[in-house]
Amino acid sequence: MKLFNVYPITDINIIRAQDCYIWDENGVQYLDMYGGHAVITIGHTHEHWVRRIEEQLHQIAFYSNSIKIPIQQQLAEKLGEISGKSDYQLFLCNSGAEANENALKLASFHNGKKKVLAFSKAFHGRTSLAVASTDNPAIVAPVNETANVTFLPFNDEEALTRHFEQFGDEISSVIVEGIQGVGGINIAKDSFLKLIRELCNQNNAVFIADEVQCGYGRTGNFFSVDAAGISADIYSMAKGMGNGFPVGGILIAPHIKPKHFMLGTTFGGNHLACAAALAVLEIIEKENLLRKAKQNGEYLINKLKEVDGLKNIRGWGLMIGFDVPDELQDLRTVLLQKYKVFTGEAKPNIIRLLPPLTITIAQINEFLESIRLAVSELHSQQEVQGLMYENNKKGPVKV
Ligand code: PLP
Repeated sequence: MKLFNVYPITDINIIRAQDCYIWDENGVQYLDMYGGHAVITIGHTHEHWVRRIEEQLHQIAFYSNSIKIPIQQQLAEKLGEISGKSDYQLFLCNSGAEANENALKLASFHNGKKKVLAFSKAFHGRTSLAVASTDNPAIVAPVNETANVTFLPFNDEEALTRHFEQFGDEISSVIVEGIQGVGGINIAKDSFLKLIRELCNQNNAVFIADEVQCGYGRTGNFFSVDAAGISADIYSMAKGMGNGFPVGGILIAPHIKPKHFMLGTTFGGNHLACAAALAVLEIIEKENLLRKAKQNGEYLINKLKEVDGLKNIRGWGLMIGFDVPDELQDLRTVLLQKYKVFTGEAKPNIIRLLPPLTITIAQINEFLESIRLAVSELHSQQEVQGLMYENNKKGPVKV
């Protein structure tokens, strides 16, 4: 049987990983500035995480949500403590799309309304309403199309105000990423987030912060939107939550009340997933990873600004992006193939950096050295090509 071919694959077989490094089957070491797509929070195969999962595996891996699972309550308490949301309620699921799907559905159950407001360049996942709220028609199947979702330009406060003036009483929820990830590292303005908060309050709409990529400490704040001095009604989480173990969830404000069976899942919140998620939170706390993400991210951003040719360096904590001009279009490939560094991308010409939050200054310097060398090599190639072009224009040399 063949695999269903939906991914353009990089031809590298990673067989081992530790902290910020990964190794292929030939023993070649790579620096992971991509974190397996913002998933690796506490470093690959962290000892504590491995031990916690192993111990849990020997006890019980799974049983249905129809019984008491005390480790879910332990996770809720730790999450409340570290995120500063002890009064919120936790619903566990398995992925980012599922978290958003549940968030949008819960909002609609809560206020009985149907319309969702989303923004240009948003990415919220690939399930039905999550993908309908994603600004990429190429991944929305005809069956996912719905008139219930409206897109407005990201960070456009005037458009937002006008839309609420007209349709406020129909809007069930507003879903927004504090920093758009797939969209290319676009940061929501504080005033934009505050306005969403205000308009949701005035119109009985639910503010959903999609923190699947930008949350869980990546920016140095546990949830990125909180830095604007506001709280969302629902926070969706996934990627960084299990450090690679599939687990997702939503944090739900106390005024949104549960009813039996309004949400549900077979696998969500299983014993193993909770053990993995608890291990992550314990290490975030023990190793001060929020503070490190903020400080080391700032250092990396400032140093990147000194690299000749990179454009529009932006980000927050360890969620960083920059534009790659045409003359450096091979930069990502050169970084991977020659300098053995994994990075992320956002179409058409953006490099995204989403390393583990455990990354050290020494590892950041190692990356900076690689990118400086790669850029200068590409610039030299351009110069040589430019000279050859000029010489060709002059025509053949007469002897
Ligand atoms: N929301 C955001 C902001 C994301 O970046 C992603 C994935 O990239 C998702 C949702 C979907 O998460 P998953 O792939 O776990 O379904």
